[in-house]
Amino acid sequence: MVSQRLGQLRHLHQVEILRQVWTHHFYWDAAGALRWRDGHTLPRLLASLRFDSPYDTDAHYCVKNGLEWSGYRATFTECCDHDRPENVVHAAATIAPVQNGTLLEEIHADLAVLSLLPSEHLVDAAYPTPARVARARRIHGVTLTGPIPTASGRTAPPDPAFVKSAFRADWDTHTLTCPAGHTSRPWQQLTLNQHPYLQATFRAATCRSSPQRPRCTSRADRSRSVTLQPTRELHEIQIGNWADQDTQQWKDRYAMRAGVEALNSQAVRALGLRRSRYRGLPKTRLHTVLTAAACNVVRVGAG
Ligand code: SF4
Repeated sequence: MVSQRLGQLRHLHQVEILRQVWTHHFYWDAAGALRWRDGHTLPRLLASLRFDSPYDTDAHYCVKNGLEWSGYRATFTECCDHDRPENVVHAAATIAPVQNGTLLEEIHADLAVLSLLPSEHLVDAAYPTPARVARARRIHGVTLTGPIPTASGRTAPPDPAFVKSAFRADWDTHTLTCPAGHTSRPWQQLTLNQHPYLQATFRAATCRSSPQRPRCTSRADRSRSVTLQPTRELHEIQIGNWADQDTQQWKDRYAMRAGVEALNSQAVRALGLRRSRYRGLPKTRLHTVLTAAACNVVRVGAG
């Protein structure tokens, strides 16, 4: 009878969640001792599919810029026009592993419903991609302004003069011309994780004998290859954005975005946003919206 009851308990939803939490967060070491995994040794299961708390199945572990937490992610959008009050016009919350940039379409769609779409939206580097810049312009008529990340680490050439933007694309012949004046083979259309891209490769014999090779590529055994956005429109957005974001004029304009950091600080330090008062994403969303409303009330009071 007892074993039958225990068997039934195993099928309870709550017991299954607890089983998964324990499975993901504890392990037996070689000496047979039960150990707790820290964030860096959690199983490489997609974080959004893993239960990190038996009390709140929407709360997930995340790391950003060295900060670790388990829970949610909030994003605020505020008006930064000089002739208008700097009020929060949108607040969004999602599970922690979701990247901020994926919220962009939701933010624009919500602002469109309220007729609050800006002509220009200043965002941090987590948001803009060529595709998002194109979509914001095409669907919402919004200019998305933010730094598009450039190649870094192993993908960057030894000399910055040989970055992708130094290669001239010919969209008729589907080839690139490198800074040394050599033409690539016709580029190939490839896909990575369902994302299409183009890859142009230079002839090995050409690169091997090129005096520019040490500046152009660190790949000792192979020729230089360059990946491109899948369409000309996206490629030109990327190259144009990189050129713009290096100019002082662009930096001066982008500096207006700094105000939202004060808002984030206010929400975190004065209103305790980092500690969710509720369990579950729906209530946490409401908490985020109410926090944004409180920020506005404080600002109106201070004004
Ligand atoms: S290494 Fe190849 S791609 Fe780079 S500059 Fe020389 S020839 Fe051009």
